[in-house]
Amino acid sequence: MEQKLVILGGGESGVGTAVLGLQKGYNVFVSDKGNIKEKYKKVLISNNIDFEENQHTESKILNADVVMKSPGIPDKVDLILKLKKQNIPVISEIEFAAQYTDATIVGITGSNGKTTTTLLTHHILKNADLNAGIAGNIGDSFALQVAENDYENYVLEISSFQLDGIESFNSHIAILTNITPDHLDRYDYKFENYIASKFRITKNQTETDYLIYDADDEVINNWLKKNKTKAKLVPFSLEKELKYGAYIKDKNIIINLNKDTIQMPLSALSIKGKHNTKNAMAATMAAQLLKVRKQSIKESLSSFEGAEHRLENVAKIKDVHYINDSKATNVNATFYALECMDKQTVWIVGGVDKGNDYTDLLPLVREKVKAIVCLGVDNEKIKSTFGNVVDIIVETAGAEEAVKVSYKLAERGEVVLLSPACASFDLFDNYEDRGRQFKNAVRNL
Ligand code: ADP
Repeated sequence: MEQKLVILGGGESGVGTAVLGLQKGYNVFVSDKGNIKEKYKKVLISNNIDFEENQHTESKILNADVVMKSPGIPDKVDLILKLKKQNIPVISEIEFAAQYTDATIVGITGSNGKTTTTLLTHHILKNADLNAGIAGNIGDSFALQVAENDYENYVLEISSFQLDGIESFNSHIAILTNITPDHLDRYDYKFENYIASKFRITKNQTETDYLIYDADDEVINNWLKKNKTKAKLVPFSLEKELKYGAYIKDKNIIINLNKDTIQMPLSALSIKGKHNTKNAMAATMAAQLLKVRKQSIKESLSSFEGAEHRLENVAKIKDVHYINDSKATNVNATFYALECMDKQTVWIVGGVDKGNDYTDLLPLVREKVKAIVCLGVDNEKIKSTFGNVVDIIVETAGAEEAVKVSYKLAERGEVVLLSPACASFDLFDNYEDRGRQFKNAVRNL
């Protein structure tokens, strides 16, 4: 008899799972408590997949053999508790999709740096002519890729919510970028629960698998001290020399795996900043483990264009360099951005303040920022924190005005950096919208 697959959530991972489930012979039903976007509805309709929106019909859902829960739905909602009580397996999309591919999987998780590391790893593999797909929180869902392409290798950006719903899913090469408190509302406000969720990436790893991780991260180190992993540990560090793994010496990245050493000057990396050096180390080691040649890796590290809205180079106009770091929605991210500015900077900052404390930025601002251009509603704290260290602070009410003001302030050889340290919902739809409006304004100069 046909197995009944119920999919909760009609977004990217839900619809991808529906298409794959149908292909694999399931009787598929998609249920979304809200609206399903038109583009996804079209896919469901053209495939004749049964679905509902704005409701969950329990009688149909509780009749499932297996349920795929989209990552946005918390574990604690009534419906999920009912399913679990009836012992109906509730899995995530990556768990479902992984059953239908023999590909080698590079799974990338962590609190920060996932997107950048995923894009860079994929860039290196593609340039080396490996048959490699990219999926997960980026672009198409993994399930849709498996249904439509089935590559030999996948680079997957994986969130903790996806990892919560795995049973047998395995990353042959796992990358854990860092762990800092995030999404705690979904983890009973317990950091240890969130940490455990991230480490589920190692749950099914065996002796032939690898865990690439940040050896400077205390949270990761502590967990590794207390718990066992079967995978081979592959550390990277900015702080210490390592016998095995990646580290920095005399402004060079040194990567030392299997007696095969890669050495590359930091200045040859296309993406800048300490955190990006770490991401580059992680991606490089993944590629090396997949036997990509050294020279090819080096070329890819120099040619990678970076991820949109993350210290993205936009243009050079009259010898002024414009950089879009709209993804920096908190002070920590902006700290990284300012840290890697090596020229005098006109800094565009502001938006919706999330209880920001800007004092950590003071030394960097004193050293590097010649003018501040406020872009957003909550400017008081910015003015009071930096009023004594920066002579020019201008308030603006939109991306175009901010860019025009910055254009007048910046001189040859300097930088205009959008790194807001704030949420974007006052003037923009989201950080992507903010970044695109900034880029358009720069291009219109
Ligand atoms: P994610 O997909 O995990 O949100 P991104 O690659 O989009 O990560 O980067 C988001 C921000 O996180 C960057 O703008 C940067 O400030 C910070 N970041 C990137 N990589 C790292 C890292 N390895 N460690 C700490 N912070 C990082």
